[in-house]
Amino acid sequence: MDVGGYKCHAVEMCDFLLDGGAMFGVVPKPLWDRKIPSDAKNRIPLKSRSLLLCGHGRNILIDTGCGTKFSEKELAIYGVTATRSPDEALRDYGLSTAEITDVILTHLHFDHAGGTTFLKEGNAVPTFPNATYYIQKRQLNWAKYPTLRDRASFFAENWTPMETNGQLRVLDGNNLPIDGIELLFSDGHTCGQQLPLITGETESLLFCGDLIPTSAHIPIPWHMGYDNQPLLIMSEKEGVLKQAVAKNWTLFFEHDPTVAAATVKEGRKGIELDQVVKI
Ligand SMILES: [Zn+2]
Repeated sequence: MDVGGYKCHAVEMCDFLLDGGAMFGVVPKPLWDRKIPSDAKNRIPLKSRSLLLCGHGRNILIDTGCGTKFSEKELAIYGVTATRSPDEALRDYGLSTAEITDVILTHLHFDHAGGTTFLKEGNAVPTFPNATYYIQKRQLNWAKYPTLRDRASFFAENWTPMETNGQLRVLDGNNLPIDGIELLFSDGHTCGQQLPLITGETESLLFCGDLIPTSAHIPIPWHMGYDNQPLLIMSEKEGVLKQAVAKNWTLFFEHDPTVAAATVKEGRKGIELDQVVKI
């Protein structure tokens, strides 16, 4: 898929498992289990899928997957399998981590920012040595002083090395210095989540992050139990979906086990999935 002068590629970083009930909040299991069937431990399969944009002299990666720093015990807890290092994953596109110019992080939860760094002789060092990493100021502050509710998802080794060596660019609003990409914001999942919208003349692609993690999360009340502010995320999602229908945006799903991207349409019971888009 080409959008706004960028070639867009879905890059699968790893598979993992999370509790199905936690992924769908107040939605009863008989409903969500039909969309994404759970295993004997009630867990559903998810992916960490990054978006690679190549164009305008840049190679941009949006989110970085779980990374390679987890211990055997942590891998078992999160059911992480099929992990590829960013270097292995990028090789499919003829690129190395050294050729990534920009890394846009939606937020700093480990399944999005775990690949920002890797362990070298026991120390976390930047995976992308020549890239500028972008995060919102409010998210960085939230990650440094998390609540009891979400502190288990934040690991300082996923941002401190870049903050220390000057590779981390902290943004305060929609001022990403990259052509053809603007940012939407959502606070309902975590404070200061930024969602890149790649805008072309005829089509646009929205990286939905954890606002709409899978294609099963299109219905407004179908949101994650992990979301810090349920009512807020519902209204944010409604606003984004209305724009997506009106402007025919393609939505990119970071965690969907099978569907990487799709358009949406107005249906009989509200906004629903329309066409699956190859990316
Ligand atoms: Zn998250």
